Amino acid sequence: NYHSLLAENRKIFYELQELKGNIRVYCRVRPFLPGQREQKTTIEQIDENGELIIANPSKPGKDGQRLFKFNKVFSPSSTQAEVFSDVQPLIRSVLDGYNVCILAYGPTGSGKTYTMTGPDAANKDNWGVNYRALHDLFTISQSRRSSITYEIGVQMVEIYNEQVRDLLLTVPDASMHPVKSTSDVMELMDKGLKNRAVGATALNERSSRSHSCVTMHVRGLDLKTGAALHGNLHLVDLAGSERIDRSEVTGDRLKEAQHINKSLSALGDVIFALAQKSPHVPYRNSKLTQVLQSSLGGQAKTLMFVQLNPEVISYSETISTLKFAERVSGVELGAAKSNKEGRDIRELLEQVASLKNTIAKKD
Ligand code: ADP
Ligand code: MG
Repeated sequence: NYHSLLAENRKIFYELQELKGNIRVYCRVRPFLPGQREQKTTIEQIDENGELIIANPSKPGKDGQRLFKFNKVFSPSSTQAEVFSDVQPLIRSVLDGYNVCILAYGPTGSGKTYTMTGPDAANKDNWGVNYRALHDLFTISQSRRSSITYEIGVQMVEIYNEQVRDLLLTVPDASMHPVKSTSDVMELMDKGLKNRAVGATALNERSSRSHSCVTMHVRGLDLKTGAALHGNLHLVDLAGSERIDRSEVTGDRLKEAQHINKSLSALGDVIFALAQKSPHVPYRNSKLTQVLQSSLGGQAKTLMFVQLNPEVISYSETISTLKFAERVSGVELGAAKSNKEGRDIRELLEQVASLKNTIAKKD
């Protein structure tokens, strides 16, 4: 009957969670920009259940196609609200005392900042994950206030050339600012972004060469039991992942490129080790992984957005971005082709789909 179907569905859901572990990888493809004439794309097919097919422009037909799998793929027409609806459960879990890390990875121009922050703070409809997450943190904490009181603080740092810089204060130890509302945080973030621009020739230049990280610290006190909980949320806009041609850059640019390569591969190694449930996780290899350590691994939940440019000209960059994603998703859906866990997940997904179908028919 209906209830046993629901129970079965739920059981499968938890088994799936178990198999997937605490690491999710979502892919998002940027649309062509207004006024962009060339509309040739390497994106052959997007299936919102997590499959993406990329076509090699110099090898037409099936031979030039490659399939990649994610927990979710968002097409160029996906809205900010749609994307956030698949992030929301993680935000709720921060208020339950979990540590959560949400990162955007991809080459410059692929929409990392669009996904994390959005194009314009003044336009709520286009808010990215950051502002929506803040809004949820405050709204949910308010709604729980008769049973739990929350204190929320914010930090904002930039990691540039393996140096961590506090964007809200000038002291080296990143300051924590108590906040009461989304607009408090938005004001601070605005200040942080302005600080980020100081000394940089062009904000965009600099922002594509550094990692930026907003951290929300949430402390809750259960009024009945007196139990304390502590969760934190890291929201990370990573430096551009494009490979810099060593023959073309020297001096400062070469140093930047080396630091970025080092920290992104250290991040990849950490997530890979976690996905493999490896006993040793190499957090110490970069500033980035040290800063994020508390929200990577253990009970923490990690979500990585892999951002792609749609243009044909980005083909090789797209493939290397996807290879990174494939590696970090390790034992997950990314490896579904070959290993047993992948098969199990497939089977469970099929069962869920058929149960959903049956339930839908009953309704
Ligand atoms: P990145 O931070 O990866 O360098 P941006 O977020 O700055 O890239 O995006 C590059 C350009 O593409 C910006 O003009 C941005 O507004 C636009 N853009 C990115 N993603 C989207 C999207 N999903 N919908 C509309 N415009 C987008
Ligand atoms: Mg950016």
